[in-house]
Amino acid sequence: MFEPSTAIANLLTAVASSPATADSVRLTTARAADFEHPAAAQLTGIALDPASRDAADRFLDTYWSDEQRQRDALTTASTDRDVIIGSGFHAAVYAATRVLAGHRRPLVLERDSRVGGTFAMTSRPVFWLNSRNRPGGPGLAGDQTANLNYLPGAPIQAANVSAAEYQTNTDMAFVIRLTLAQYADVVPNATVISVGEYESDDYYGDGMPVDISGGRSLSAARIIDARGLGDQAGENLTNGTTIMSFTQFMQQMSEAWPLRGLRRVAVVGGGDAGKCAVESLLGIAPQPLMAAAGLDWVRRIDWYAADLPTDCEQWQATIRGRYQAIGRHLRADRSGAGRLAVINRRASIVDLPGTALIDGTGYDLVVLCTGAREPVIQGLGDISGTDFHTVPGVGAVARKYLQQPVYRVGPHAQLPFTSLERAEGIAAEPGNSVAMFRLGSKTAALAATLPSPADS
Ligand SMILES: Cc1cc2nc3c(=O)[nH]c(=O)nc-3n(C[C@H](O)[C@H](O)[C@H](O)COP(=O)(O)OP(=O)(O)OC[C@H]3O[C@@H](n4cnc5c(N)ncnc54)[C@H](O)[C@@H]3O)c2cc1C
Repeated sequence: MFEPSTAIANLLTAVASSPATADSVRLTTARAADFEHPAAAQLTGIALDPASRDAADRFLDTYWSDEQRQRDALTTASTDRDVIIGSGFHAAVYAATRVLAGHRRPLVLERDSRVGGTFAMTSRPVFWLNSRNRPGGPGLAGDQTANLNYLPGAPIQAANVSAAEYQTNTDMAFVIRLTLAQYADVVPNATVISVGEYESDDYYGDGMPVDISGGRSLSAARIIDARGLGDQAGENLTNGTTIMSFTQFMQQMSEAWPLRGLRRVAVVGGGDAGKCAVESLLGIAPQPLMAAAGLDWVRRIDWYAADLPTDCEQWQATIRGRYQAIGRHLRADRSGAGRLAVINRRASIVDLPGTALIDGTGYDLVVLCTGAREPVIQGLGDISGTDFHTVPGVGAVARKYLQQPVYRVGPHAQLPFTSLERAEGIAAEPGNSVAMFRLGSKTAALAATLPSPADS
């Protein structure tokens, strides 16, 4: 029987009692029998109505920013409670599975003010996910009956928040945030700076000292390190105006008039982030709040990406379905020129006043999508100080630090492809190495099988 947490119960009451949003909850009563529990029906109604979803998002931000609640959460982080670093997809998977397996609600520490990880980098939708929106349970890519965006234990699944073929980043973020509200205590603006040694060899109860921004600290019995893919590589090159990181650009895309003054733009890097940035510039990403072709129109996009096809035919033959629309823009127009050109070269960028230069060409904006680097936490080194943690029947699900009860989960664990994943062709698509469908069940298996910290 699903029992809403205080946060979810208060959210439902707030949305249902406001005249502006009450309809979203009321309309789902006609479909109540289609849901596992009444809260799932109500949350689905809220997710499907933009005004209600916005109100729910704001409710959660306010709930998590309450200082007294944050202080209480930090002081009750005792020795039988897991502490999770990061508030993304894997934090949500771990928290939900853990609580449903009968353990205490974990404490989640998030460095950003907005909870939800990579998919929550903006509060308005700015990119499409690359796995199709389908109902049902988890499974591998290629399985037409599987829901690749499945979050085990979530109060509602991503498939409940839209009918679009591909969902937006904020659709997924909403599910992650609801899951954390249900199954975890969350403290935003809490950057984990360092993790010390635990004091006793045979009993985790004495805890590891954890230092957090703002001069705060706590003692953790066990840490789940879900820091995610990390910070943008090349951030030292950005100036926030003519040279931006992918995250900075996406944040600009979520504001009014994001393309103002941009005629010639370069995108550097050909991974998922580069593809999503190019879609935004071409106008085939989710529609921004205020943008009109009559006012702002990017005339030319040069895409510096070493391994991408340069023409439409090659693109259509080799690039996955989700990104096919980009390929059409690689065709030359009647004048023989195209709006988009893929340039198979590495770009060296020179930052000049008001413009950025690549190989002598001036750009109004260069968007850096050149991968990620791990955020530093003192006391938690790189993967060389870890070993695989395996679960019988599943295989490697995380990496455990050799000297501390700390487990790396998600993409940050860098788990190699299994022989099944190779045989199924999943390893052939590089983006799959970090995909939710691949790693979510591994994090869930860890959460379901670790003993209570006090019993370890
Ligand atoms: C453009 C783009 C599109 C993508 N599309 C898809 C897709 O369609 N399907 C898919 O499966 N995957 C996709 N991914 C990959 C997916 O986003 C990641 O695999 C997933 O978000 C990882 O989840 P996570 O919980 O490990 O990390 P994240 O979601 O990155 O969350 C980690 C959190 O940890 C926080 N953090 C870091 N350091 C600290 C610290 N010291 N203290 C406290 N908090 C900290 C960060 O602020 C962040 O909020 C995409 C990625 C990108 C960039």
